[in-house]
Parts: sequence; C-alpha cells; structure tokens
Amino acid sequence: MTDEIWDVLIVGAGPAGLTAGLYAARANLHSVLIEKLAPGGELLNTDLIEDYPGFISTTGFELAQKMEEHARKFGLEIEQASVTAIKANDGMFITETEEGTEYRSKTVIMTAGGVPKKLEVPGEAEMAGHGVSYCAVCDGPLFRNKVVAVAGGGDSAFQEGIYLTRHASKVYIIHRRDEFRASPDLQAKAKANPKIEFITSAVIDEIGGSPNVEWAAVRSLKDGSVTKVPLDGVFVFIGFSPNSGLFSGHLNHDEQGFLLTNDHMETGVPGLYAAGDVRSQLARQITTAVGDATTAAIAAEHYIEDQAFKAKSARS
Ligand code: NAP
Repeated sequence: MTDEIWDVLIVGAGPAGLTAGLYAARANLHSVLIEKLAPGGELLNTDLIEDYPGFISTTGFELAQKMEEHARKFGLEIEQASVTAIKANDGMFITETEEGTEYRSKTVIMTAGGVPKKLEVPGEAEMAGHGVSYCAVCDGPLFRNKVVAVAGGGDSAFQEGIYLTRHASKVYIIHRRDEFRASPDLQAKAKANPKIEFITSAVIDEIGGSPNVEWAAVRSLKDGSVTKVPLDGVFVFIGFSPNSGLFSGHLNHDEQGFLLTNDHMETGVPGLYAAGDVRSQLARQITTAVGDATTAAIAAEHYIEDQAFKAKSARS
C-alpha cells in the first residue's frame, strides 16, 4: 500500500462510475476509478442507444469512449484492477485488488453494476462460449444466417433480440409469461420484425448439442408439453445480479441484493456511496445511472469538506 490518499475512489467504470469520476475530478478531488475490464461497463454490451438525451442515436461503444475521454480530460485517473474487498478502517477506506495493490481513500463510490443472471439449466454452463451467450453485441456476428433464441421478456431481451435479427435468419424470443416487461416501443419494433417469433408461457429446460448448441428443450407452462427446438445459439437476458458484496461489513440491501441508499446515495456507512445498477431503484437506465452518480460525487465532496472542517475545528 502506498502513502497516497485519494479523496474519492470509484469502483466500476460504467456510465455511473465515469460520471462520478467526471464530477469528482472536476471538483478538484484527487480521484481514481478502478475497473477490471475496459471503461464502459454495460455500454460495451449495448449496440444502439436511442434514449440518452442529446444523442438521438448512438452506440454504446461511442458513448463509452466519449464518457471516458470527458472524465480523463478533467484529471480522473483510471486504473485496471479487480477489486476484491473494501474495508472501513479508522475513518479511511482500504480497497484491495486481486493484483495486490491497495488504495486508501476518504470516500468510496460503488458503481460496480452486476453480472447477467443465468438460466441455471443443464447445458447452459457447459455451452457458454459454444452457442450460449450473454452479449449480443459481442457474439451476434457469429450467428450469421443462423437460428437463435433469446430468453427473457424485458428491455434487454427485446433490444438484443432486435439487434440479433441483423445477423441471424430467425430469432425466437422465449418468455415465461404472456405479457412482456419490455417498453411498448421495443415491443412494437419486435412484433413488426418478420425474423422474430415469440414463444410465450414457456421456459427453456435444457440446452443441448455437441460441441456447439443444436437445440433447446422448451417447456410450455400451459400444458407441460416439451418441444425440442432446433437452434444454433441461446442468448440469455433475464436480468442481472448486483456486484454488491465487495464491502467487508453490513450494507442495507433489497431482497435481490441491490444496495439501498438514501437520496444522497449514502449507503449508511459514512463516506460510502452507491450509484448505478448496483443500487436498488425503479429504473435501470443510463440516464438514471448518470444522475445518481452525479449526486453521489457531490455528496462525497460535501462529506470530505465536512470532515476537514471538523478536523480543523477539533485542532483549534
Ligand atoms: P428485467 O427488466 O429484470 O427483465 C428480466 C426478464 O427476464 C423478465 O421478463 C423476467 O420475466 C425474465 N426472467 C427473469 N428470471 C427468469 C428466469 N429464471 N427464467 C426465465 N425468465 C426469467 O431485466 P433486463 O431486461 O435485463 O432489464 C434490466 C433493467 O435495465 C430494466 O430496468 C430495464 O428497463 C433496463 N434496460 C433498459 C434498456 C433501454 O433500452 N432503455 C435496455 C436494456 C435494459 P418476468 O417478466 O416474468 O419477471
């Protein structure tokens, strides 16, 4: 561990992390953002973005690049490492990484997002990378003129299902209910797309093939019948689980593990904030991540000022 003390340490470089970093660095706070992969987070798994104000149509990659460039311009340092633990110690936070580096900071903003939820059916884990995928932008081009299924009925399933029709000859959207969670505009687009076929009130029980995916066993929840649907790929978009377990101490969370904060994005541990997809909230959008991260960075700034004022008052 070096003697360096950061004002703000941010974990995760998705839209929330890059925004918190921009605001913290621009406020002249000594700020570092730690990301295990490339900056961008979920943006890098998203093709088309049409709901970020000011950008009528952009790609996740482009927006990620712009957000990173913007934050770096104001002095944010971005380091590549995988955070394993965050500990509170004597008014300071110690952040440990798999690479062995340790960081000391006055505040921490957790913007570590989440990981895709798995179907947890036979064949899924075995065929991950052999036709089972959690990222249409990454793997979609491998399915040119092939038949794929998308599991899920939310915005991700619809958005990615529509994207996959650019490559695949046919896309089944398999959903466990008759009604969808996806927004009406995405539903309208998908329903108008001749390459998309819906299989509703049904679940995937098993994925099979050798060595690559060749079929999925789809069970009707109406009559229990099982159909072996010939397929080349299965894309799973059934939500995600938050990366909320990094702090070595209790943090309030909802029943799914998403962190609970107040309006200032405070977690309940002074100096520790959460924003973006790791936080419990109604809508998980780029816009909400960006807004919450702004609040978290400003709250962290106020906290640091208050602590400095208290320390100064105690000395005089
Ligand atoms: P989501 O909204 O939680 O939807 C998950 C879908 O998967 C639901 O339809 C759910 O079914 C289904 N599901 C969950 N567990 C399942 C299981 N074990 N087996 C089969 N199906 C299962 O997740 P999401 O689509 O990833 O979206 C996450 C958040 O990101 C949402 O807030 C969404 O609005 C946002 N988002 C926004 C955009 C955009 O364009 N603005 C794009 C992507 C995501 P039920 O409906 O029956 O529960």
